[in-house]
Amino acid sequence: MKPARTRVAPSPTGHMHLATARVALYDYLLAKKTGGQFILRIEDTDTQRTVPGAEQELMDGLRWLGLEYDEGPDIGGPRGPYRQTERRDIYHAHAKILVDKGHAYPCFCTPERLEKVRQEQMKRKENPHYDGMCRILDPDDAARRVAGGEKNIIRFKMPKDGQTVAHDHLRGEIITQNEQLNDYVLMKSDGLPTYHLAAMVDDHDMGITHVLRGAEWLSTFPLHVNIVRAFGWEEPAWVHLSLFLKPSGKGKLSKRDGAIAMKDGYSVFIKDFGQLGFTPEGVNNWIALMGWGVAEDDVLTLDQMIERFNVDSLTASPSAINFQKLDHFNGTHIRLLTNEDLSARIKPYFSEAGLHVDDETLYKVTPLIRERLVTLDDCLSFASFFFKENVEIDPAELIVKGLDAKQSAEILRKSYEILSGLDELTHATGEPPMRVYVEESGFTAGQVFGLMRTAITGQKVSPPLFESMEVIGRKTVLERLKNAVEILGKF
Ligand code: GLU
Repeated sequence: MKPARTRVAPSPTGHMHLATARVALYDYLLAKKTGGQFILRIEDTDTQRTVPGAEQELMDGLRWLGLEYDEGPDIGGPRGPYRQTERRDIYHAHAKILVDKGHAYPCFCTPERLEKVRQEQMKRKENPHYDGMCRILDPDDAARRVAGGEKNIIRFKMPKDGQTVAHDHLRGEIITQNEQLNDYVLMKSDGLPTYHLAAMVDDHDMGITHVLRGAEWLSTFPLHVNIVRAFGWEEPAWVHLSLFLKPSGKGKLSKRDGAIAMKDGYSVFIKDFGQLGFTPEGVNNWIALMGWGVAEDDVLTLDQMIERFNVDSLTASPSAINFQKLDHFNGTHIRLLTNEDLSARIKPYFSEAGLHVDDETLYKVTPLIRERLVTLDDCLSFASFFFKENVEIDPAELIVKGLDAKQSAEILRKSYEILSGLDELTHATGEPPMRVYVEESGFTAGQVFGLMRTAITGQKVSPPLFESMEVIGRKTVLERLKNAVEILGKF
């Protein structure tokens, strides 16, 4: 396959959404697979909706995911500029070409008139559309009015007869009767182009071979192919990706679903995933399978995805967001990380929680918790106690179920005695004498070790007890046992 040039072309109008990440991922994979280029283009011609900081968030989001683009607004490239508001002259020149060729025309209708037409059409139960008033103006007259400074916009002159046959790579031929098509606006009154003109011009100008975009663009797809054909350009391969559905599978994913997800520790915005403890590897893997026909459970790194990627195996059927799968992929990728890498990734969560973490201890702790982590921030609930001077213990937790305070204190006192008798406290030296004690005492292993765990770690669930004690160290273990006995003494 010849090198593909792909682009992700988000509008900086809000937070970077999963859907943008998915387009970017497939774009990236296709470009890398074929030895081509992946481009970031910022579509900021709807200046009213532009949100400060959104462009930076998009760039940061792509980098966080590891989807490095080859050309883009901040790094430049041979076909720039890559921000549409910096390409005004290009769009003007192209709008003029279409007008000169008779494929577009200036429209002088006022917003008031257009509103009136719309109201009347609605009364007649027609779909709102431009009524074509300026379509039939004499082109020379229209040109004179434009030259005289009369306010105007440019509309595309849609063919009125016959049909438009557009080809989507995943969906095949999409046939539309031209009489149903509207004369869409190409240039707005603010002198900026609409998406319809700008994207077509840029995709051509930037040599884009495959346009991957959301299924929401299917409705204006016939317009887009007509524009490209009016210029006489070769069409890119059009790939309209599947829609995202709500987690329930019922209905399109909405803004509200994002808020609901957040309550459960998930999100639909890329910026949140890191904070929530997700890894780029996990997120990419999860996204990859929402619209790509690889096996449901395939655990893939970016490199493995590049190897396996094929644009023909993308699917058009909608996919429901499934956050449990995200958990699954995240946990799986965490377990694929080296000890060093995982340690470096969990360290910031401890630091943010105000804990001082020394690397030596951290490298010993990481292997003890890696099997249990679903998200990186789970490290806090499993392993904070390793880095705390003192653990906080709820006194009631120290009374073993079925026993009283005296018996519980006895267990702790005896454990103290046994462990303090050891020169060195390791997993290997600590466990055998404690097991002997369990046998002889008549208490169960669950009672003895459960209580020791509470006393030493301050929690009911922890990494394996004796391995943890080895990391914590003899001195601290003994201090904590003693402390627990003292607490029990107050009962
Ligand atoms: N700016 C468009 C959007 O954000 C891009 C669509 C496309 O990829 O062509 O939806």
